[in-house]
Amino acid sequence: MGPHEPLSRRAFARAAALAGALPVPVLTERALAQMSHAGETPPDAVMLNANENPLGPCAEALEAMSRALRAGGRYQFGETLRLAQTAARLGDVPASHVQSFAGSSDPLHRVVLAFCGPGRAFVTADPGYEAGERAAAFVQAPVHRIPLTQEYAHDAEAMLRAAGREAGVFYICNPNNPTGTLTPREAIEHLVRSKPAGSVVLIDEAYIHFCEAPTCMDMVRDGRDVFVLRTFSKIYGMAGLRAGLAFARPDLLDRIRPYGTGFLPVTGMAGAIASLEAKGVVAERRGYVRRIREDLMAWLRQKRIGFVPSVSNKIMIQTARPGREITAAMRERKVIIGRSWPSWPNHVRVTIGTPEEMEKFKAAFLDVISS
Ligand code: PLP
Repeated sequence: MGPHEPLSRRAFARAAALAGALPVPVLTERALAQMSHAGETPPDAVMLNANENPLGPCAEALEAMSRALRAGGRYQFGETLRLAQTAARLGDVPASHVQSFAGSSDPLHRVVLAFCGPGRAFVTADPGYEAGERAAAFVQAPVHRIPLTQEYAHDAEAMLRAAGREAGVFYICNPNNPTGTLTPREAIEHLVRSKPAGSVVLIDEAYIHFCEAPTCMDMVRDGRDVFVLRTFSKIYGMAGLRAGLAFARPDLLDRIRPYGTGFLPVTGMAGAIASLEAKGVVAERRGYVRRIREDLMAWLRQKRIGFVPSVSNKIMIQTARPGREITAAMRERKVIIGRSWPSWPNHVRVTIGTPEEMEKFKAAFLDVISS
């Protein structure tokens, strides 16, 4: 392989992706959840596999979206700006530091395409959310998967060591998907302070609203080399409606702009603005999910089933046989649970559903593990 070959292949992959010739494999939780099982899903199945919110959009968002539908013959460019301005005001950052997207998978992929490549590694946790590393593989970037610490946090020191000077993106999902566990603020600060020049820390706060952990938005405000991602798919229950946000310094946002149009549907924009402005929705939903999660964790303890204590809307539950067998058996009982990770083959990820859904889960799970 000649010295210039990796670079030209990377340039080709990027140019092709930009020209639409070779689509970047954009993987979302929906796609990853779907890929992990085969066959039709019965319409009355309990869906606990994609970390969705069974409550759906809040009343304010529903109202705003039904108004937006009627005006849907217009592009409504002004709404894109209004979403960014609303998010900036509430996140206490300048409007120039926010860009809206149709979900946060889009900016997640863009950051990887812009900052990774041969010799510019993607560094992530194991187990961690897989979408970024798939995009990194597409641009032939080295991928370093670093096991979580004993407390299930990202191991900042090991992540820095693994990449050396060759880092492109350090991906921190806080709380983590799939474990629902937190990385202490000091570890993230250490990473941001110590990472090599030219690399960025991608802080994915898709699940931050489910817990009381501090956001890293202040790092954006302070001009650090970070992107913070938020999605409306989780606490706000708008996964199918599509809205998300990237927060970063304007020069960093400029780097990810060329990778697509980034248009949002007007329903997504209207619902996102109304969700951000709605009073009490986050606290109410956080409490709702916490109560159901705590009930599930108490039940697991009582049944002596191992699990990783979670602060999020999903739990990793230990299985005595390969998780994929449990997932298949649960499917036969019309309860669709999440996947296992190659490094944790004896765990399955289970999303928190409604109390009724979790009762169905418990009955089916007991049946499966005792058969
Ligand atoms: N980041 C993480 C960690 C996720 O789990 C998800 C979805 O499940 C996303 C980002 C992106 O979600 P969306 O594209 O629906 O906003």
